[in-house]
Amino acid sequence: MSEWTWTYHDYAPEQERLREALCTLGNGYFATRGAAPEARADAVHYPGTYLAGGYNRAMSEVHGRAIENEDLVNLPNWLTLCLRIEGGPCFDLAECEVLSYRQALDLRDGILIRELVFRDAADRETELVQRRLVHMGMHHLAALETVIRPLNWSGSVEIHSALDGRVENAGVERYRGLEGKHLEALESQAVGEDAIYLKVRTRQSRIEVAMAARTRAYRDDHRLDIEPSIEHETDYIGQTFRVTLDRDVPVRVEKIVALYTSRDHAVTECGLEAREAVGLEDRFNELLASHVLLWRQLWRRFDLQLALREDDEGRTAAILRLHLFHLLATASPHVMDLDAGVPARGLHGEAYRGHIFWDELFIFPLLNLRLPEVTRSLLLYRYRRLASARAAARAAGLAGAMYPWQSGSNGREETQQWHLNPRSGRWTPDETQLQRHANAAIAFNVCQYYETTGDTEFLSSYGAEMLLEIARFWASLATRNQDLERYEIRGVIGPDEFHTGYPDREQPGVDNNAYTSLMAVWVISRALHLPEHLPAERWEELTEQLAVSEDELRHWDAVSRHMRICFHSDGIISQFEGFETLAELDWEGYRRRYGDIHRLDRILEAEGDNANRYQVCKQADVLMLFYLFSAEELGQLFTRLGYPFSPDTIPRTIDYYLPRTTHGSTLSRVTTAWVLARSDRPRSWSLFTEALESDVLDIQGGTTAEGIHLGAMAGTVDLLQRCYTGLEIRDQHLWLDPTLPDELKCLRIRVRFRGQTVEVEITGDLARVRAISPDKEVIRLRLNSQTLSLQAGETLEVKLARTPLFVDAP
Ligand code: BGC
Repeated sequence: MSEWTWTYHDYAPEQERLREALCTLGNGYFATRGAAPEARADAVHYPGTYLAGGYNRAMSEVHGRAIENEDLVNLPNWLTLCLRIEGGPCFDLAECEVLSYRQALDLRDGILIRELVFRDAADRETELVQRRLVHMGMHHLAALETVIRPLNWSGSVEIHSALDGRVENAGVERYRGLEGKHLEALESQAVGEDAIYLKVRTRQSRIEVAMAARTRAYRDDHRLDIEPSIEHETDYIGQTFRVTLDRDVPVRVEKIVALYTSRDHAVTECGLEAREAVGLEDRFNELLASHVLLWRQLWRRFDLQLALREDDEGRTAAILRLHLFHLLATASPHVMDLDAGVPARGLHGEAYRGHIFWDELFIFPLLNLRLPEVTRSLLLYRYRRLASARAAARAAGLAGAMYPWQSGSNGREETQQWHLNPRSGRWTPDETQLQRHANAAIAFNVCQYYETTGDTEFLSSYGAEMLLEIARFWASLATRNQDLERYEIRGVIGPDEFHTGYPDREQPGVDNNAYTSLMAVWVISRALHLPEHLPAERWEELTEQLAVSEDELRHWDAVSRHMRICFHSDGIISQFEGFETLAELDWEGYRRRYGDIHRLDRILEAEGDNANRYQVCKQADVLMLFYLFSAEELGQLFTRLGYPFSPDTIPRTIDYYLPRTTHGSTLSRVTTAWVLARSDRPRSWSLFTEALESDVLDIQGGTTAEGIHLGAMAGTVDLLQRCYTGLEIRDQHLWLDPTLPDELKCLRIRVRFRGQTVEVEITGDLARVRAISPDKEVIRLRLNSQTLSLQAGETLEVKLARTPLFVDAP
């Protein structure tokens, strides 16, 4: 296994959809699944192309009611390229003998390669080599190159190249009962001698999407005169031409595609732009060269190197790079010009309808330290939806801003109202929108971005307003319990979605979810500290505009000092009030009966039971506190609340919840590997490796085919980047406190900290820190109260002691 290639050596129809998701190419503006060019959506294949922010709403009938859903729309399939040898049937892998097959995602260059030799019914053997790209620089462009070489025959081949608008959203089995038709066809036409053009529009959001494709054939680099015939309907256009092939002489077919929409900047009409763009580009190889350059530059920022004790033949590094690759396919620098968030399942499939969740909490730290400009623009996606979040809070009788659990086009709550349990076939009410903690994640992300970059302009213009409105929301959600003289947050759902309520209470939601309540405290206290970070005039402007009075600030302060957190009788933090009184599950029995019990909620519902009755967690959300905060920070939060907190609460709480957790969310292993990194390094490493395999092995049995799990992908890289290195940005300092798992012999990463590029290499008990940026000021490195200066280009070696080491910002 190469560290830079993700390869399959066979054709496995049952794995095809998974591989399509994992071989998706994207540039942040749009992405296309790694479907075979000759494939149409069927039981094996699911071609899909998705545009960042390309949503549409549609009505469906569910459970006898009309409901509206918003989906990330599957756009016309630009890949379509079919071959017909000597008038025979269209080339189809299922109908011929596959003599050799290799499909490789070249991570370094950002291209997908498929090489195969097949024998057809007439015993003709043909070699087919295809390369494709979705251009990382010119984000409207994509290209597919096909080289055909007849190995034991000469004759003719008919090539059909099309833009197929007859697509629907049908990639997720359990959504099949819902409306999947999101596009209406507008027009199609031939353009010049060798190009075709198709324009569609999303039915409700009325985004016009135009695609143009130019297909040319070459032998020995000479362009062939192909004179294509055109076949077209309004929703489909194809061009067909015939090429004569000589035995062993390759013919190269190049399809260059442009995609524009009515939402783009700097366009007149998207159809015109698409048609013009394909006319301007020449050869595949030229596009490839400029595309590769951009990927190489991204890798300079994002790559990490590691040496493992066990020789895993580069698999770990390859998977980490695959994760980075898909992160960049979804959140590339092009996002900076868009109004888009990061869909939890990437632009790689239709699961969760392309919605944006709290998963950004696991994704942004990676971007903050490599490409913070991208985080900034992703945060602006939230800022632009502040009005919608305010309206949602108002509608719920609350103040401030209540961001939705699932977000799409305009920031409305997009969580479905009914949920199908595929195991029982029953539709049940979906209450998960009560996950108010999504608001805390947004505020946390604002603060983390600011802390990492020192971008006061962002804080002043956007971040502070979001933070204040979210703090205000928390203060209004908290109700006073007079008896206890504490504030409470009742009727919410924590990240552990197995608990949507109490078994004996009709109203959904649980009370005093520790994660939600402590995050509320943290957010409010950060909002109260804003005046220290903003110019006085800006603070005054904001408080005037938002009508934040001194009285209100006093109330926030009181809430943040008297929030109720529940504990078990032995001091363990209770996930929510009453968790310890729930029944214990017969874990062994369920494992014996069902094997895989990660979706215990579905198993129990199918049995006519309910996860709310048991001490079972999809992801133990108390552990999120140890994931986000250091023991010291947690201690401060508990002290603020007047609760005792001893450091051994952390291991005892972990020990309590872990055996009760199914890791039904891929995020769960990332969190757990993180919180165990210092106390149980072998277990942490083993969870890290499981998290690493989540998507490539599709450990949830079918979900990856519907879209990758971007939070877990980014989270695994971040485990190396921040957790095992102990890298933290605190009080404007870059701290390092490495504890590498035994399996990791050496780790080298490059991060950007306040405009500086810093390379950190950790080998055993030696840390090497290098300041790379040539024109930057001196970095100061402090160890054991000693301050050491580091000039640009200089490397400093430090023997690791127990005391954390930190790099001081100039
Ligand atoms: C998890 C959520 C997550 C969502 C999207 C769910 O299965 O429980 O925490 O936000 O998937 O990834």
